[in-house]
Amino acid sequence: MKALKERILRDGKCFEGGILKVDNFINHQMDPILMKSMAVEFVRRFAGTSINKVMTIEASGIAPAIMVGYLLELPVVFAKKKVPSTMENMLSTKVYSFTKDRTYDVCVSRDYLCPGDKVLFIDDFLANGNAAKGIIDLVRQADAELVGMGFLIEKDFQHGGEYLRNQGIHVESLAIIESLDNCHITFKK
Ligand code: 5GP
Repeated sequence: MKALKERILRDGKCFEGGILKVDNFINHQMDPILMKSMAVEFVRRFAGTSINKVMTIEASGIAPAIMVGYLLELPVVFAKKKVPSTMENMLSTKVYSFTKDRTYDVCVSRDYLCPGDKVLFIDDFLANGNAAKGIIDLVRQADAELVGMGFLIEKDFQHGGEYLRNQGIHVESLAIIESLDNCHITFKK
């Protein structure tokens, strides 16, 4: 998506270890106009897919997911990284975060991820695919169906996208980064 790629080139910052910081428009300060355009693009790319629920993982997936849910007029559920003491009927899985180098317990209530749900997962980044694998596990535990996964930014060199596509999952990424070597941003053609 042209507008996102241009914004990444303008405001994105590279860090050691293949990390891209997009705090200026996605992860800290947020640009709602761009966020809306990205959600419109997801709706276009997943048109024809039967979806009844949008799912994401806290915190940074919530903003794009709610925009998609708003446009599709569907509920949005986010998997929580802290297990609330009051949560009943909980499903949980473990997710390793390479940006924070720690493993989280991620959970969602069975009240909101139900058998037969047709789930579209939305997140900000796809890197190694660990968050996505956690969501796949939660969806499986719930006897729901994963109908697609949409990411604002995919880092191709971390191969999460390759893994998910090889599983037959419909993956859409709005900007695919081929390399961040020498802190230079190169997009996949
Ligand atoms: P994965 O689980 O696919 O390895 O990584 C995806 C998760 O890690 C995303 O939910 C995102 O929050 C975080 N993440 C991965 N790579 C980056 C990055 O380059 N920049 C930022 N800001 N977050 C990232």
